[in-house]
Amino acid sequence: MCRDFVPLSSLNGTKVHKGNKQNLPLKICQSCKKPFSWRKKWAKCWDDVKYCSDRCRTNK
Ligand SMILES: [Zn+2]
Repeated sequence: MCRDFVPLSSLNGTKVHKGNKQNLPLKICQSCKKPFSWRKKWAKCWDDVKYCSDRCRTNK
């Protein structure tokens, strides 16, 4: 699901400042329909993220 071919150089300028969580992008989980926010682990594949958790991703 996550694509790892995104070069690190393309991530420049996307760093999130500490204490500024309200500016994090939000998505609606395709499974539970609840909003969830950007997480660092999704930095390389945010465009592909559709679910808030592995549990939702496997619970179609
Ligand atoms: Zn969910």
